[in-house]
Amino acid sequence: MIQSDSISRLDVPCLHRIHIGQASGSHLIHEAIGMSIEMNDLIHRLERLNEKAAELKLPDNSFPVTFDDGWIDALKLQSVFESLNHIQPVLFLTMRQLRGDWSLLPLPRLYDSVSDAISDIDDIDSLRERLKGLCEEDQHALLDSMELPRDIPSPEMIGRDRLGDLVDSGWLIGSHSHDHHDLRFDDALALEEGLCEALDATLEAGGVPWLAWPEGRCRMEGCEIAKAVGFERQFSLNVPAGMVDHPDLIRREIWR
Ligand SMILES: [Zn+2]
Repeated sequence: MIQSDSISRLDVPCLHRIHIGQASGSHLIHEAIGMSIEMNDLIHRLERLNEKAAELKLPDNSFPVTFDDGWIDALKLQSVFESLNHIQPVLFLTMRQLRGDWSLLPLPRLYDSVSDAISDIDDIDSLRERLKGLCEEDQHALLDSMELPRDIPSPEMIGRDRLGDLVDSGWLIGSHSHDHHDLRFDDALALEEGLCEALDATLEAGGVPWLAWPEGRCRMEGCEIAKAVGFERQFSLNVPAGMVDHPDLIRREIWR
């Protein structure tokens, strides 16, 4: 479906949140940290990407445009992709999401608490980094101890009911791993077991054996484990922490 040479010639986008016009509400902080993009800007960039893919004579539905973390915002693009024939939208979901937990992931839960005070971003920077190193359960426990609210499920997440619509319109579902944290320092055996479970949950949901590393961070050893477990494609981010050169690994660019 996807040709590696085509991917190396164009940036593979990684998207999270999408706002329309001026960002407001929970989109404000995501925009401030470079994780929300304006809808019309995004559509123009996608159209240009599709044109380039056409110039390169890429096959239909061969170039991935990826969405991480299960935000409901992806639904805004359903009709857009119908006219972008070279592009293949892919949604990367965590194992908990695939099993029905549609509460906010820990970091967005933290961002929600500062969405009315953008100046607080610098204050939470070290806390963000600390959270990325903890498993999801411990991240939530820490946020519980700070008495931050938690909606279960969150209306900002896609949710199982709407997932079918996306799949019916041709979107692919991949794995965003078994636990959303920086997996580079996990014990090899625990990583293998976790990724194995994540792959099973993805395939059970009708997904494909593709893995987007949480935070875009991975190591060569982890990539080898993911390959051995059965993942056929892996995705990281174009950030220093994710600069690993594994043949199965596609580095993505966060569009903002
Ligand atoms: Zn993520």
